[in-house]
Formats: sequence, C-alpha cells, structure tokens
Amino acid sequence: MQFLSVPDYHMHTPRCNHATGDIRDYAEAALKAGLDEIGMSDHSPMPDGFDPAWRMRRDELEDYLCEAESVRTAFAGRLTLRIGLEADFHPGSENYIAGLIAAHDWDFIIGSVHFIGDWGFDNPDHLDAWTGRDIEKAYCDYFDLVAASARCGLFDILGHPDLIKKFGHRPPPDSRRVRMAEEHMLQAVRQADVVLEISSAGLRKPVREIYPQQRIVRRAAELGIPFTYGSDAHAPEDVGHGMDLCLQALLDAGITEVATFVKRRRSMKRFVL
Ligand code: ZN
Ligand code: FE
Ligand code: FE
Ligand code: ZN
Repeated sequence: MQFLSVPDYHMHTPRCNHATGDIRDYAEAALKAGLDEIGMSDHSPMPDGFDPAWRMRRDELEDYLCEAESVRTAFAGRLTLRIGLEADFHPGSENYIAGLIAAHDWDFIIGSVHFIGDWGFDNPDHLDAWTGRDIEKAYCDYFDLVAASARCGLFDILGHPDLIKKFGHRPPPDSRRVRMAEEHMLQAVRQADVVLEISSAGLRKPVREIYPQQRIVRRAAELGIPFTYGSDAHAPEDVGHGMDLCLQALLDAGITEVATFVKRRRSMKRFVL
C-alpha cells in the first residue's frame, strides 16, 4: 500500500539532555524522508525540580521557541514546521502546565504519562523498580493516569498511549482489569475529544511494537477517536521512522485520515487516495 506522507508531530532537541541534533537537522532529515510537515515537541519544563535531568529548564523555553521560529522561516515553502511541547501529565502540576501553555501560541500540546507517582517507569535508570511489581496493577495505574490526562483538558494529543509496555513487561493477556482500564481510558479520550498518538518509538525499544497496540487502535477506531503520527525522534535520523507501519496499523483498523494541528485547531488529512 502506498500512503501519502503525514506530519510527524513528535521530536525533541538537545535541551532535554537525551536527544541530539538542532531543529534545522530535524527539518533537513524530514525533507530527505519526503515529509512536508513536522512538529517539534520537546520535553516541557516541570515545576519543583520534577525529573530535571530529562527536560529543558524553564529559562530555555524562549530559546527553544526562537530556534523553532527561525527554522520555520528558513524552511517556509519547503517544509511546514509546527511548534509544540510534550508535557508530562503528573497530577499536581496542571496549573504549572497551564501557565506554560498560556505563555505561547502553540500549534499543539502533547500530554504524556512517564511517571506513576514518583516511579519513572519508562526510564532505563529505574528499570530495577520493575522487579517484583504487580504488572497488572502497573498497567491499570498507567491507563488511569492516561484517562486523567485526557480529562484534565490541557492536551491536544496523548503521547505513546501504552508506553507502560516499553521494556516488554506484560500482564496476563486475558486480564480483565487491564482491559477495563484500557476501555475506561478510551472512553475518557472520546469524551474529552482529544487525539491519540500512534508512535513508532516502541519499534526501537525492547518491546519492539508500535504504541499503542492494535487492540487499542481498533477500539479507538470504533469510538471515532482520531490519531496523529509521531516518531518520537530523539535524533534527526528517527524523523518519519516507521510511518508506513503506523499508517498500515491505522488502515487495518479502518482509519484513513490523521489529525493535523495549527494553533491548536484540529483538521483531518487523508493518508490514502
Ligand atoms: Zn525523551
Ligand atoms: Fe514521552
Ligand atoms: Fe517524546
Ligand atoms: Zn516521548
């Protein structure tokens, strides 16, 4: 199947301390990969010293915006550059995130759950903390947080919405608890009218699977929940990675268009002729 290219709305900069390449390098990589639209979404600042090693500082935000605006201008007519953020959803920090959102005219805001309480479950440095965990409970707690992130009303897109599987920890396949938590999450997403991200990043992680898994894509399709595509690039060569596999996964579920954002207003774009 030949797909039309879609925007890649998930990429980082070295400000988060775990990515390489200037925004210009991401833009060049996008053109080389045949994309005509990308969106920057670096890890947002967070309040009170929350996970500082993995994100930009508040005083780097202006610089991030200036760099993005200048690349946007430099590539005008060749590549559309959208400017967003990947904000952590972490209960208690909503007001701080609302302040960041108000500070700029963003194209989109991704909300991502990377923490259950103070456990950074997707952080390779915290991998030990998986030992002896109740995996079913971890999945349920995770999906409950994703549901809450939909309901909080701050976000346009929910990032990599089953990130909890990143290292390959799996609950029993027939777990009723996990299925119910997934279903509640999807109902919350539909009610809040937010978008899920289909992400190729999982293909590059131990789980070797697209986020979210196909069962979630199928159910989201039934509920009419739209998707954006994201590579979650932390290096220019990741831009557009796995796009066709992600689009095929959407198409397999009957989805033929993805969401695009301009100044947080959503439109739909077909990816099949
Ligand atoms: Zn990251
Ligand atoms: Fe993330
Ligand atoms: Fe990311
Ligand atoms: Zn991410």
